[in-house]
Amino acid sequence: MSKPTFVLFLFLICCSSFFGQQYSDFFIDKACRIDFHFCGNSILTAIYLDKIKQEPFWGGRRAHLSNDLNLGDFRFHLLDSISGKQIYIDGFSALFHEWQSTPEAQKTSKSFEQTIQFPYPKNAVTLIIEKRLDLDHWQELFRYALSPTDKLIQQTKLTDVPVKIITKTVSSEKAIDIAVIAEGYAAKDQQKFYKDAQRLAENLLTHEPFTNYKNRINIYAIAAVSVDSGVSMPQKSVWKNTAVGSHFFTFYEPRYLTTTNSFKLRDLAALVPYDAIYVLANTKTYGGGGIYNFYALTAADNKLATQVTVHEFGHSFAGLADEYFYDNDVLDATYDIKKEPWEPNITSLVQFDRKWESRVAEGTAVPTPKSDSIKIKLGVFEGGGYLKKGMYRPSFDCRMRTNKAPEFCSVCQQAVERMILFLTEE
Ligand SMILES: [Zn+2]
Repeated sequence: MSKPTFVLFLFLICCSSFFGQQYSDFFIDKACRIDFHFCGNSILTAIYLDKIKQEPFWGGRRAHLSNDLNLGDFRFHLLDSISGKQIYIDGFSALFHEWQSTPEAQKTSKSFEQTIQFPYPKNAVTLIIEKRLDLDHWQELFRYALSPTDKLIQQTKLTDVPVKIITKTVSSEKAIDIAVIAEGYAAKDQQKFYKDAQRLAENLLTHEPFTNYKNRINIYAIAAVSVDSGVSMPQKSVWKNTAVGSHFFTFYEPRYLTTTNSFKLRDLAALVPYDAIYVLANTKTYGGGGIYNFYALTAADNKLATQVTVHEFGHSFAGLADEYFYDNDVLDATYDIKKEPWEPNITSLVQFDRKWESRVAEGTAVPTPKSDSIKIKLGVFEGGGYLKKGMYRPSFDCRMRTNKAPEFCSVCQQAVERMILFLTEE
């Protein structure tokens, strides 16, 4: 984090804790989970409530609750029903939103399970969910008056799933808690899952800035049992009965491994306090996916698993964009280059001052030519966010671009560090 940014960040944190409320003024030590359905097509986005649950642990942040980092395609607010004051805000992204840019969404309407969670409120609140229009503008999609004493708020939880601590260095309130969930591990595979979780957790902690903050990171392994070993591969007509029903070939993309069973996934994660969900799939096939502030999912046994794990966690934990681009990617309609994307590590140059512009050395060519890629570590290289033209990335290479890059670029590292501080600083 550059010095001016870090000073500004500390100032914001100090302001929010000075003027902001205390956690215990408005919340109890449990989580409230909202299960809903995103419904629509390429142009329509609607939300329909499924159910509300009270979960046993709140693993998220305890401070600066009414500030956010302006990340995600969607966000939600909680307003205290008496004062009208905002008492919590958070951003998130959704598989539904990615699907909206696929050709299928122009021909049909679909629904996708989605969940959000927040600390369980003491008093009645208004929940508002909004969709991002651009960097600073939002459209309201859903509003709900939530009474925390509503008798139909469900309190069921799973009881027969074993949980093992992989690493725990600090109490949950001060930690980034990561719930690693087994997917495609049959009962006979349980010890393999613990070993895989340990291996991939240790690998994550060798990458900056996770290494620097590893004493703030707790990792739990949740050994969900699948009927079958392995995960579904629709492109080969292989369907498996697994804990969260994940599959490759999401949106007909062979390497894109996701799950749409969001409610089941949250039921499993709720066994521990958590800030982040990591789903480990018991397969050798290359693939993965990561959705901001929801989950990352990767193949445990592929030879590139250690690299992909870090890449996908960059998406789900810090809202980093893919810095790679292809000539004909299935997701090539994801970004409108007339708008500044919200992700911290790509820019359309429309509002570059909101990104890493202040850190680029004077005289750096825009776009920065490939021939300068060794000399210029932080520039404005064209290509990123699946687009070859009109979108730019900070460094020639980065873990968000290729598996060969040893680390995140400095802009990505700064974004991850900002999130770690946001979730753990008081
Ligand atoms: Zn990067």
